[in-house]
Amino acid sequence: MQMLHPCRGSIQQYEQGLSDPDRYRPDHCPLCHTSDPLRAHGFYWRTLVDVEYDESIRVRRYLCLLCKRTVSLLPEFALPYLRFSLGVISLFLVSRLLYSRTYREAASAASQPNMAYQRGQFWVRRFQRQATALCAALSSLTSVPPAKDFLTRALQMLVTIGWIPAHRFLFGELRAHLLGWPRSLIPHGCRVNLSPAPASS
Ligand SMILES: [Zn+2]
Repeated sequence: MQMLHPCRGSIQQYEQGLSDPDRYRPDHCPLCHTSDPLRAHGFYWRTLVDVEYDESIRVRRYLCLLCKRTVSLLPEFALPYLRFSLGVISLFLVSRLLYSRTYREAASAASQPNMAYQRGQFWVRRFQRQATALCAALSSLTSVPPAKDFLTRALQMLVTIGWIPAHRFLFGELRAHLLGWPRSLIPHGCRVNLSPAPASS
């Protein structure tokens, strides 16, 4: 199961905080809810592309000795199962969808001038599918602006809230993926996909 790493800062600050397994050790298992602290269980590596960053980062893992399942702490600037950081994706989506820039201009705004067209198209499609549900879910954090459509409304709400705080809320509180869980992953520890139901439930 993936949880968010509590560190709020840069990639460098995140990496510095990884060396001490006790510092952010969860005090209980989120899966079986035993109150015994989890045991440090090494790391896994994942790639991350951020503005001026394209390397692998370590993700700290813990093991629950009672239910034998692992919990990993993903930094909040990375979205589960996506190689590009939330910062890069948000810059692209705002430029392309809110300011109606071309794909090429939006990729440049996200500091990825050579990015494949299909990658941006993939993010746009996933975001479009989520827009209505995002408006509903995020309405507990900010008012819903009177925009012309759900897509614009969702983008304006994300800009107001901040993409990382919104992701923290969606993933941390609702177990929802900002761009929607890939269908193949829904049964694997991801409780729900966002639906337009109220977020307060
Ligand atoms: Zn457990």
